[in-house]
Amino acid sequence: MTDARTRDDVISAPAVPRVPVRGGGGFPVRRIYCVGRNFADHAREMGATAPASKAERGTPVFFMKPADAIVTGEVVPYPSATSDLHHEVELVVAIGGDAPAGVLPVEQAQALVFGYTVGMDLTRRDLQAAAKAKGLPWDTAKGFDHSAPIGELVPAAEAGALGARQLELRVNDQLRQHARLSDLIWDVPEILHELSKLYALRAGDLVFMGTPAGVAALQPGDRYEATLEGIATLRGTIQDDPAAAAALG
Ligand code: MN
Repeated sequence: MTDARTRDDVISAPAVPRVPVRGGGGFPVRRIYCVGRNFADHAREMGATAPASKAERGTPVFFMKPADAIVTGEVVPYPSATSDLHHEVELVVAIGGDAPAGVLPVEQAQALVFGYTVGMDLTRRDLQAAAKAKGLPWDTAKGFDHSAPIGELVPAAEAGALGARQLELRVNDQLRQHARLSDLIWDVPEILHELSKLYALRAGDLVFMGTPAGVAALQPGDRYEATLEGIATLRGTIQDDPAAAAALG
């Protein structure tokens, strides 16, 4: 799991997390940005007010997960410190180049996109609710180990236009979440433009684009299947053996 120790490093360098790419190769992950409240129906189910028009949408909500939160295998250990693990199915965008200095114009954003896939922004909803109630940060609710299961990346040229493709999540074969990407409050170029006001976007960055309504609890033993219509599918199970989960953890 660790690279060889080199030069003056006092420990072995941690391995760089990688997402497999359709057609071969890996995508090394630098950072994971996430968008909150990017579908009106989900904003409402979380008790927030959804904007009535583009002019009223304000600025997006962003948070981050560590790069090594990604899970590329088919088993997710049920996390510690929660009894309300929630699924959030999301479009994931992979950044393939470094943004120029300054704010990235919306019309130049698409050129930075390497590809797309589907992922889940797993959430300790009980910890998030407690943090929100006290006005505290969301980090322990969102940025925990194994909190970002992710499918195979599909290069943008191969994926084609996102348009109004369907995003879906089934748990134990029951449809839990579904939405059309045309219903995103902020589309991909708009989100990259907004992120560039706050951070220097670099090759290796992933952006989880926000979830539609229908978020709910996952239990140990549950099987999930997330799909981004015509592009990618993500399947796996929530680990139901606590001892095995601890070993993975
Ligand atoms: Mn989310």
